[in-house]
Amino acid sequence: MATSSAISEGLLAKYEPVIGLEVHVQLLTASKIFCSCSTRFGDPPNTNVCPVCLGLPGALPVLNRKAVEFAVLAAMALECRINEVSIFARKNYFYPDLPKGYQISQYDKPLAEFGLIEIDLNEGESGRKKIGITRLHLEEDAGKSLHEGFADSAHKTAIDLNRTGVPLAEIVSEPDMRSPEEAYQYLTRLKEIILYTGVSDCNMEEGSLRCDANISVRRRGQKEFGVKTEVKNVNSFRFVKQALEYEIERHIEILESGGKITQESRLYNAHEGKTYGMRSKEQAHDYRYFPEPDLLPLVVDKKWQAAIRAGLPELPEARRQRMMREYGITAGDAHTLMLTRAMADQFEAAAREAKSPKRVANLVQSELLGRLKAQGLELEQSPISLAGVAASADLVESGAISGKMLKDLYDLCFERGQDFPAVYEAEGRPEQSRDTSALEKLADELIAANPKQVEQYRAGKKTMIGFFVGQIMKASKGQANPQLVNEVLTKKLEG
Ligand code: ADP
Ligand code: MG
Ligand code: ZN
Repeated sequence: MATSSAISEGLLAKYEPVIGLEVHVQLLTASKIFCSCSTRFGDPPNTNVCPVCLGLPGALPVLNRKAVEFAVLAAMALECRINEVSIFARKNYFYPDLPKGYQISQYDKPLAEFGLIEIDLNEGESGRKKIGITRLHLEEDAGKSLHEGFADSAHKTAIDLNRTGVPLAEIVSEPDMRSPEEAYQYLTRLKEIILYTGVSDCNMEEGSLRCDANISVRRRGQKEFGVKTEVKNVNSFRFVKQALEYEIERHIEILESGGKITQESRLYNAHEGKTYGMRSKEQAHDYRYFPEPDLLPLVVDKKWQAAIRAGLPELPEARRQRMMREYGITAGDAHTLMLTRAMADQFEAAAREAKSPKRVANLVQSELLGRLKAQGLELEQSPISLAGVAASADLVESGAISGKMLKDLYDLCFERGQDFPAVYEAEGRPEQSRDTSALEKLADELIAANPKQVEQYRAGKKTMIGFFVGQIMKASKGQANPQLVNEVLTKKLEG
C-alpha cells in the first residue's frame, strides 16, 4: 500500500472521502481553567499542581474568566453563535494521566455552535467552500504520560500532571471535507484565524494545537456516510494529510475486497507512513456524561459578548482582501506576507511609506525569506527589517541601485547582522552607473535587428517598448537599470 502517494484516480471515481476534524487549542491564559496553578510549558514535572487540578476529594473548581473570554473570542472569529448559557459536564473515563477519573468538558450545551471556515477549492475550480463548525467548547486538558527522558524509562511510564487543567477550546468541524487537501487547508485557515485572535500560540510541537482526524469513504452517489475511523493526535498538518491519504486507501481496499470498516481510533506512525489500530472507539454513552455539580451554568450575556467582540481584530480573510486592494499585491503575495500577524503588521507599516508596495512584497519573497530560511532564522531574528526592505525597494524603484547591487547589499546585511540602511550608509551610498554607452550600443543593435517592431512602435503602438526593454534586460542578465533602459530606448525609438 502506498504511504502518501496520491490515491488511485479510478478508485476515487468510485469512492468519496468524508472528513471531519476535531482540533484542540490550548488557550494562552497564565493560570489553569479551574485553579490558580501556572500553565507554563516546560517547568519541572508535577510542580504546577494543587488539590483542584489533582482532583483531590473536596477541592472545588473555580472557572477562569480569561479562559472564557479567549474561547468566546475564538468562537466569534470562527463565526460561531455564542450560547448565552452553556453547561460544564463530566466526561468519565479511566486513564493514568487523568487523576480525577473524569475530565470537565462541555457536552450537549457547548459554549458556541454553527461556525464556519472558508477554504479555497481545489486547483482548477473557482470560488470558495464553506466548512461548517459544529461547535466550540471549553474543557480542561489531561496530564501527560512520558515514556522516555527519565531514569528507568525502559520499564516505567512517568506521569507529569502540570498540564492537567490547562484550558482548551475544542473545535469540532462538520464532516464537510472531501479530500486530505481540503483538510489541510481547513487546518491552515483555522490556525491562521486563531493566531490572529491571539488566544493561542498554536504551537504543535508543544501540544498547543492537536488534531484528531475522522475519516470515512462512501460510494459516490450514496447518501449515508460510511463507518469512520479516527486518527488521533497527529502532530503536523502535513502528517494529517498523509495519514488521511493512507486511511482513505486502507478503507477503499477493505471495502473493495468485501470487508467492513471497524469504527476505531488509530495512531499515525510518521516514519512508516501508516496508521495502527489503537482501541475501539468509545461511544458517547460510555463516558456517562453528566452535568458538573460543582460549577454553575456558564452565562455569557449580551453585554459581556459585546465587550469581547470589541477586542476582535481584523481577521485574515478580510485583511487579505484589503491588502490586495490597498497595495496592489496578488493573493499569493498576501498569503505569504500574512503567514504571521507580526509579518503582516510590519509589511503594512513599511508598505505605507514605500514608493511601490508591490516591490516591497516581491523583495520580501524573493530576497528576504530565502535568506532567512537558509540561515534557519525567524522573521523576528532577521537583520533586515521590513522597513529596511522598503528602503531598499525605494532605491531600486528610483534607479539608484540595481537588482544585483541590492542582492550584494543584502548579503552584507546578513554577514554583519545589520539592517539595510546602516549597511547602505557604511558602503558609502553606492549608486549604479548612469553611463549609457553600453546600453545605447545594445539599443542600436536591437533596433536594427527588429524593423517590424520599430515600425509598429512608430505607428503608435507604444506598448511595443516593453519588447525592447525585455530584450535589453535579458541581454544584460537583469543587471541594467530599467529606468535608464527605458530612457535610452524611448529616445532612440522616437528619434
Ligand atoms: P464521535 O462521537 O465518534 O466523537 P462525533 O459525531 O462527535 O463522533 O464526530 C466527531 C467528528 O467526526 C466530527 O468532526 C464529525 O464531523 C466527524 N464525523 C462524524 N461522522 C463522520 C463520518 N462518517 N465520516 C467522517 N467524519 C465523520
Ligand atoms: Mg468526538
Ligand atoms: Zn491546580
